[in-house]
Amino acid sequence: MTRIFDFNLVHRDGDARVGRILTSHGVVETPVFMPVGTQATVKAMTPEELTQIGSTMILANTYHLHLRPGEQVVHAAGGLHSFMNWNGAILTDSGGFQVYSLAQTRKITEDGVQFQSHIDGSRHFFTPERAIEIQRALGPDIMMAFDECPPVESSREYLQQANERTIRWARRCRDALQEGDPTLFGIVQGGLHKDLRAKCAEALVELDLPGYALGGLQLGEDKDQFLEMVSHTTPLLPSDKPRYLMGVGTPLDFLETVERGVDMFDCVMPTRAGRNALLFTRCGRMNIRKAEFTNDMKPVDPECGCYTCQNYSRAYLRHLFVAQEILAARLATTHNLFFFIDLMARIREAIRSGVFQQFKREFLTRYLNPNSGAPHTTPATCCRRSRNERPVFDLTNETPSCE
Ligand SMILES: [Zn+2]
Repeated sequence: MTRIFDFNLVHRDGDARVGRILTSHGVVETPVFMPVGTQATVKAMTPEELTQIGSTMILANTYHLHLRPGEQVVHAAGGLHSFMNWNGAILTDSGGFQVYSLAQTRKITEDGVQFQSHIDGSRHFFTPERAIEIQRALGPDIMMAFDECPPVESSREYLQQANERTIRWARRCRDALQEGDPTLFGIVQGGLHKDLRAKCAEALVELDLPGYALGGLQLGEDKDQFLEMVSHTTPLLPSDKPRYLMGVGTPLDFLETVERGVDMFDCVMPTRAGRNALLFTRCGRMNIRKAEFTNDMKPVDPECGCYTCQNYSRAYLRHLFVAQEILAARLATTHNLFFFIDLMARIREAIRSGVFQQFKREFLTRYLNPNSGAPHTTPATCCRRSRNERPVFDLTNETPSCE
C-alpha cells in the first residue's frame, strides 16, 4: 500500500504552531492530543465515540501488542486499523519505554535488549530491526525508532553511552525501512544534559526523518528542568517537521510546551484519571467521589459540550463511582478526553488568531489556584451556572478536523 505522509505548518504565533499532518487515515491538525490505546483500545471508549469527541490520531503500544495478542494476529486481521475498527491515524511507540519500565530482567547489549514479559515471564529480544518489523506488522501510520530510555537519575557516563546507542539504533531503524513502511520518527534522548540532547538531536536530524520526538522527559525531574529541556531541544529540530513530546501531559504542560514549539502529545492522564474519578474542568480538577457532589445537579463542567456534561449531573456521576458501576468509567473518560481534545482545538484557534499568550493567561487564571500554583481542586468559584443555562452545543460540529 502507498502511504501518505506530509506535514505543513499553517500558522505561527511566537514559537507556537498550528500544522496539518496528512496521513493515509485522514488529516491531523496540530497541536494534537493522542489518546492512549495501549492494548489496541482506548480504555472504555468505542472508536465511534473517539471520532465523536474529535480524536483524529491515537497511540498504540508495540510492547504490549507484541506480547498480547502478538503482531501476527494483528497483521492477519489486516493491521491495527481494521483489527480495532479505527479509521483515524495511529502512532505506535517502539516498545523501548515499556522494555525499560515494565519488563523484568532486561539485558542491554549493542545488538538490542533481552527481556522477560511482565505478564508471563516469557523471554523476548528486541533489536532496532525487530522493533521496525513488529511495527510494520501492526501497520500504524507513524512508528517510532527503538531507543534506550534510561532513568533520569542515571549517571552522566551511563546517559552518554545510552545516548550514543540511541543514535546508532535510530540509524539501524532507518536502514531497516522497506517500501510502504509506516513513517518513522526519531526520538531525542539525553536525560537532563543539554549537550547530550543537542548531540542526539543533531545526529537524528542528519538522518532526515519525517518527524522527531522528545523522549525521556517528565520522569521525575522538576518542572523547571523539564521546560528547560523542551526549550533547549525544540529549536534544534527542523521547523518544518512535527515535534512530538512523548508521554506528556496535563493542560498546563500543553500550554507551556506548545508555547515552546511542540506539536504532538500523548498521555494516559485523561483516561486513567477518569477511571479514578478525577475530572478535568476549566476551573481545575475535581474528585467526583467527594461527598460535596452528592446533591450537585450541575454538569461536571457547565461550559463543556461533551456527551457526559450534556446529559448527566455531578450527583449522578458520583453515584456511579460510589456504586462502582461500569458506566462511571465510560462517562468520566468521555468527559476527560473531550476536555483535552477540545483544549487542543481551542489552542489551535488561539494560535491562528494570534492570541495564544492571551488564551494561555486566561485559561490558567481560571484553572490554577493562585495560592498554590496547582489546579483548583474544587469547582466552586466558576461553575455556578446550572444545566439549563448552558449554551446549546452541537457535539457533531466539534471535531477539530472540521474547524
Ligand atoms: Zn464534559
